[in-house]
Amino acid sequence: MSPLPPPSRPRPGALPNRPGAPSPAPPTAPIYVAVDVEATANERNNEIIEVAAVIFTSERILERWTSFVRPLRSVPLGTAQLTGITNAMLQAAPPFSSVAPQLRAFIKRHPIVGQSVEFDLKLLAAQGLVLDNPVYDTYELATLLIPDLPVYSLARIAERLQVGTSQEHRALGDCELTAAVFQALLDRIAECDLETLGELTRLAETGQSPFARLFRQVQREKQQETSGAGVGASILQQLRAQAGGGQSEKEGGVDLLYLTTSQRPLDTRALLDTFRPDGPFAEAFPHYEHRPQQMEMLGSVAEAFNNGETLLVEAGTGTGKSVAYLVPAVAHAVEHGETVVVSTATIALQDQLAKKDIPDLQHVLATIGGAPAANGASLPAEFRATVVKGRANYLCLYRWFKLRGNPSLSPADARLMLRLLLWLQTTDTGDVGELRFTDDERRSGVLQAWNRVNAGPDSCPSSCVFQKRGQCFVQRARRAAENAHVVIVNHALLLSDMTTNSGVLPPYEHLIVDEAHHLEDEATNQLGYAFERATVLNFLNQLAEPHADGPRGLLTDLPIRVRTGKTPADVQTDVTRFCGDLLPRIDETRTLTIALFDRLAVFLAGRPQTETDTRLRITQSVRNDPGWTDVEIAWDELSLPLSIIQQSLTSIFEQVYRLPDETMQEQDETLLALTRALRVGTDLRVGAAAALAEPDPDMVYWTEIEGQRGGQSGQHHAPPEASLIPGVAAVEASRTVSVKAAPLHVGATLHADLFLPRRTVVLTSATMTTDGSFDYLSSRLGIEPDESTAVAVDSPFDYRRSALLYTVEDMPEPNRPGYQKGLQDTIIGLCEATRGRALVLFTSYSALQATYRAVKPILEAAGIIVLGQRIDGGPRQLIERFKQHQEMVLFGTSSFWEGVDVVGDALSVLVITKLPFKVPSDPVFQARSEGFVEPFVEFAVPQAVLQFRQGFGRLIRSSTDRGVCAVLDSRVLTKRYGKTFLNSLPGCTVEKGRSIELPARAAAWLAMAGPERKQ
Ligand code: SF4
Repeated sequence: MSPLPPPSRPRPGALPNRPGAPSPAPPTAPIYVAVDVEATANERNNEIIEVAAVIFTSERILERWTSFVRPLRSVPLGTAQLTGITNAMLQAAPPFSSVAPQLRAFIKRHPIVGQSVEFDLKLLAAQGLVLDNPVYDTYELATLLIPDLPVYSLARIAERLQVGTSQEHRALGDCELTAAVFQALLDRIAECDLETLGELTRLAETGQSPFARLFRQVQREKQQETSGAGVGASILQQLRAQAGGGQSEKEGGVDLLYLTTSQRPLDTRALLDTFRPDGPFAEAFPHYEHRPQQMEMLGSVAEAFNNGETLLVEAGTGTGKSVAYLVPAVAHAVEHGETVVVSTATIALQDQLAKKDIPDLQHVLATIGGAPAANGASLPAEFRATVVKGRANYLCLYRWFKLRGNPSLSPADARLMLRLLLWLQTTDTGDVGELRFTDDERRSGVLQAWNRVNAGPDSCPSSCVFQKRGQCFVQRARRAAENAHVVIVNHALLLSDMTTNSGVLPPYEHLIVDEAHHLEDEATNQLGYAFERATVLNFLNQLAEPHADGPRGLLTDLPIRVRTGKTPADVQTDVTRFCGDLLPRIDETRTLTIALFDRLAVFLAGRPQTETDTRLRITQSVRNDPGWTDVEIAWDELSLPLSIIQQSLTSIFEQVYRLPDETMQEQDETLLALTRALRVGTDLRVGAAAALAEPDPDMVYWTEIEGQRGGQSGQHHAPPEASLIPGVAAVEASRTVSVKAAPLHVGATLHADLFLPRRTVVLTSATMTTDGSFDYLSSRLGIEPDESTAVAVDSPFDYRRSALLYTVEDMPEPNRPGYQKGLQDTIIGLCEATRGRALVLFTSYSALQATYRAVKPILEAAGIIVLGQRIDGGPRQLIERFKQHQEMVLFGTSSFWEGVDVVGDALSVLVITKLPFKVPSDPVFQARSEGFVEPFVEFAVPQAVLQFRQGFGRLIRSSTDRGVCAVLDSRVLTKRYGKTFLNSLPGCTVEKGRSIELPARAAAWLAMAGPERKQ
């Protein structure tokens, strides 16, 4: 495919004229108005403080208008810092009631253009100015036309389009930039050929997209300009070429990976020599730091490859563990022609490996590779690496073409097809991770639409031309993996490949698991399942979905397909009869499904729930509850028709399967659809039977009630059904009740199916030991100590000089009277003394909110900005803000314990508000605890210690960092297990004292000279 046209450049003299220029002639081009609002960003009362509008055409800016607005409350510190608008500047400003009529008169009926403009329009409406002009959002338009931007801020879009910058967060500057961005985006649309524009218009109209008008307008202008001649290559021609007459992928373009006959082990000494301070690696790598700890790990990993071992390596922060395992992995893979799979838990680490560490290593090896080291051994000059994801992440071209040809696309389908049509121009991978779906798209069901065009878990029709031509994205990913020395995956794919043989990963004998402390949780997820009302109803809808003009689905399609093909008469009769008999069963099963989940809701309504935990473990005592009998009866009533459906589908499948090729319409698709229905039906029936009636002692079962999930629930076909049981209140009926299951233990499965089939297994993480021992983690992962080697490599950082661990001795224990007040006072005092620069970690969101509300006004009055997770933004956005500004305090919960990497002074203080024990009511935790003699000591504490160490790891991120970690949970001093937490930390300076002394001590520590700063 050809790449997208290059970014448009600003036209000479276009748009940015200034006030005072001679009055231009009346424009003939369409006129738009860009609007932008700045607001106080108060948590509860968001008020406008500045508003601007700019009227423009494609040629120039025609008029500008702007005004300050006086708010009722003062401007918060964070907003003042962000915008530069202070309370003094607003003192003489008019109230919004005076500004609104001027703004309305200025905007007239022109289409409004803005960046995330819905937010601005809502603010205007909230203050009384409701605008119903047509609206174009540059954020949404950019996601369509520039699908590969990592961030869609106005500045980043403008940068990519090369249309300049503005003083961000001031209304007039943002309006002018928005106008320039919008024009550049229109230029991009105009670069499409007429046929593609027609297709875009059709999809946008079907998808009720606001851009339909724009596409049509550009199409009309282009028709007038070109008299119908297209410019550039047609997207549709290219896609048709793929389907029909396209060239097959060129032979010889792919480097193949062949097993070599080499028996030569890695020369560990030679590898280490390459990394000596005056060695070739140091010469080639500009910021190379020789770290003995990294060498120790590298040597251990090399020996694990040589000896075919299972190795556990804990590598402290700053070790450089990815290079330490990649170098021996690459050396082994190239020498032997074998693939090494590297698995990570998080997208952040996967991205870091794929986009930074591996390209850096490839660059260095290209420079030094092949050069003999001291003893004659050498590193390879090059290697190949690729990222592989699960099938559902890839676009299926076959399904895309089929859906595109559907004359009755739903609006959500059409909106997705619109995005995909433009995206297909640029993507080489077909990986949906390249697309950023907007909130609006998510709400409108775009993810459900994606499920109709992704490669999914099922096998492919033999008639797929994309497969035959080597153009299928899944096939390409697999081929790249087969020929790569290093294949990067995430734990989810690694484990689903282990259980289902997903067909994406090639066979492999060498495995490196990074972030290994997450492997047990991910295995628990992958080996568990959920039984949900929406899933059962979707399954039934696939077979026969109710519509006003009668049901539609596989059961109504099948009789038509056999009738219009060359199907033998007896098969036609049988299939038609089976389908006809099943149709009323589907309605009955739907009713019984709703009845079962209503019964569950009634049962759960009678049991106590906490605000934060709506899970109920299904223990024997729950099963003995008289109310549970009703649930079992409801299940018995449902299981019978589910079995009948299964038997009938099997009979139909056998009939179709026996047919010779091409004797019925869409034979391949029909077989696939039947296979899928049989698989889903079996999974649902067997899973539900085990959870509700015949429990497996090796599984944990529980019910869960989640808040209504709206468009994400998968119920895109129809609104939620009404309750069938009188007395089930609307609130229960509208909630999502599900039954979930997870394995009690995953260690044996991991051992047998993941580790044992591999020759080399390396498990690594910064947190694997508790109190210096690997026993806890290795037992959870099914690794026997006598079958493995374990190495703990210290961090190269000088923690004694860089980190002060301060434990408070006079705070009440968490949940005791006085704790919350003590916590707030201590955070205020500490942050005032250190001028913020603090990350505060919580174990629950409710505690975060309560503390945020209490401390924010006081700290902000002192000039220190307070940011709260989900209050002031999402994690990524908050961390970026936190990195860029001093005098800030950031409050976060679970994801912040691991996901924050802030080097330097911005993060100098870490506050651990509470030891991170799991919630005792967590069903899996509860069930697993029962397997221990002393569950708290043997299970709860080690788990919490690993999390505690992760949290502590946020403080010192480089050899020049200096910081204070304050632990405000006094149990670390008063309880016996407290020592286990403290002993598990690297050897920092430890002090205990009163909370009132902490601020001065922290300020003094930070003021002292730290570790040597690099020049
Ligand atoms: S081979 Fe399968 S996944 Fe690939 S395009 Fe064809 S049907 Fe889709």
